[in-house]
Amino acid sequence: MENDSLTRYSEIIEKNRREIVLLRGAGCKWRRCAFCDYHLDFSSDEDSNFALNQEVLGQVTGKYGRLEVINSGSFVDLDRRTLGRILDISIEKKITEIHFECHWIHRGAVAALRKAFEAHGIQTKIKIGVETFDALYREQVLLKGIDETSPAKIAACFDEVCLLLGLDGQTEASMRCDIETGLAYFERVCINIMVENTTRIKPSPPVIDTFMKKLYPVYKDDGRVDILLNNTDFGVG
Ligand code: SF4
Repeated sequence: MENDSLTRYSEIIEKNRREIVLLRGAGCKWRRCAFCDYHLDFSSDEDSNFALNQEVLGQVTGKYGRLEVINSGSFVDLDRRTLGRILDISIEKKITEIHFECHWIHRGAVAALRKAFEAHGIQTKIKIGVETFDALYREQVLLKGIDETSPAKIAACFDEVCLLLGLDGQTEASMRCDIETGLAYFERVCINIMVENTTRIKPSPPVIDTFMKKLYPVYKDDGRVDILLNNTDFGVG
């Protein structure tokens, strides 16, 4: 494998057991979310991305029948050969359910991806980062780039949602509302607690404290909710 300081393969053994791979693509096309600096994991060298991704995908065993593919962006940022390799590996290793990430602006590409995998009996689960259903906060503070306020309409193309909690201005009620809205409209919810990074958005210790005391105990054993207290909790990154 190339010299690369990131851990790119792991297994999630707690809820919805699955293998997870962190692949490298050509880079997030949105790249404006105010809290995000992981879009820096990209390369415009397609051959190098494919070589790296092929090596990472070589570690997939299929032991849980489920695979999650993330790439610091959307699946559309992966090169064609990598997408082909993901499909081949999924067939070879008898994966029955595959998860990808996708930004709102690429929702039009979801149907074709589903079709390609579903033709081989592989169910696709597409995850969108919404971060919060408070559209004003989401668009004016977080600059998320979702020009739709209705949770039902956002959910129409997607199966799973990521939320970002632990930010200034959030409260127990607002965080509970985000989680409950996520559970009402999506199959699964992934809660990311904000951690310090290189962006201007900072974690809020009192808000995180409120989350830990009031909400973590409620949702920690919910099989439909993943909670990442640290953004490397899935074992990759
Ligand atoms: S869409 Fe995802 S990768 Fe792109 S800037 Fe936003 S959070 Fe980062």
